[in-house]
Amino acid sequence: MRFLGDVRSRLEKNGIPSYRANQVFKDLFEKGIGSYDDMKTLPSNVKDFLKNNVPIFSIVPKKESTSKDGSTKKILFELNDGELIEAVLMKFDDGRNTVCVSSQVGCMMNCKFCATGQLSFKRNLTYEEIADQVLYFATLLKKTKEYVTHVVYMGMGEPFLNYTEVAKSIDMLRDDAALNMGSRSITVSTCGIVPEIKRFAEQFKQVNLAVSLHAPSDEVRNEIMPISTKYPLEELIEACKTYTEITHRRITFEYVMLDGVNDKERHAYQLAVLLRGLLCLVNIIPYNETSIKGIKGSQKSKIDKFRSILDSNHIQVTVRVSLGKDIDAACGQLARKNKLSINSNNHGGRKQKDSGKV
Ligand code: SAH
Repeated sequence: MRFLGDVRSRLEKNGIPSYRANQVFKDLFEKGIGSYDDMKTLPSNVKDFLKNNVPIFSIVPKKESTSKDGSTKKILFELNDGELIEAVLMKFDDGRNTVCVSSQVGCMMNCKFCATGQLSFKRNLTYEEIADQVLYFATLLKKTKEYVTHVVYMGMGEPFLNYTEVAKSIDMLRDDAALNMGSRSITVSTCGIVPEIKRFAEQFKQVNLAVSLHAPSDEVRNEIMPISTKYPLEELIEACKTYTEITHRRITFEYVMLDGVNDKERHAYQLAVLLRGLLCLVNIIPYNETSIKGIKGSQKSKIDKFRSILDSNHIQVTVRVSLGKDIDAACGQLARKNKLSINSNNHGGRKQKDSGKV
């Protein structure tokens, strides 16, 4: 759905009173009515106009998979031009319902360990295509009187290479006529597009920022994240400092644990030195298996050791619990290729065991 102002002017231009747009927004966002046919307040000529000119959803769900424990639902959406993206709903047992959205079709960052990076980049998503991923889950949840509590921009793509549309989508999520979400319940994750970090800090002081760091030195980072040759660590950390000065908010550094690559004890010490004095949290991510050859996750003992070194060096640290691994819905596993293979859905009962931070 587009911004309320856009829909109002669209109607007005076509001789339909603009208050009809407010009725649509009330039905859609407050009552969760996801189809014009079910909106009782609208006369049929208005319904017809809207159906042909202002589709409720700019994306069409094609396949739904639910994890065995019921905590995670992944949806494959088709876009108007036939491209495909995925979005994931994670239901945590502390009551959070977090939607992970994609910001691009494919990704051009080519991080060595990420399944999305193996896809070629196709195009940026529009703000409507991004916000509609959330809207879709919101209308689903409404049926059981639940709602989306958090949104993370951690699906396919690099949000800061699609800054304008990502920013508009955040405005749509926060719009009180639309999803009315709080800034603090939204998190944008970037692999480190330095100039946009400051821009983001100035534009969205309350929205959370996560940075995919994954390495304590340029030497290691260059090996796994090509973007680091463009923006070396020194510049990245400087931008992160500026972010905390502007926003006074803690920054989250994501750190995926890769066997033999970035998980040694000396890496943990190096990381502690790099981040000393910065208002931050390190979120260690156990690697989710992909089909990428030569990349393996670290053993639990290594992760524990790494964590305790950071901890004893006064760096705040958590270990992320990933949901939805059995349906390839966890971090870095979103990699639907350009074809639709409709397998049987994997529906399970709703039982929530895991909890964790996303
Ligand atoms: N491009 C943005 C948004 C993606 S967020 C970014 O890089 O931040 C997805 C997060 O999951 C990133 O931190 C990414 O590096 C990480 N990730 C990628 N592949 C993964 C995998 N297989 N297991 C665990 N985390 C992974």
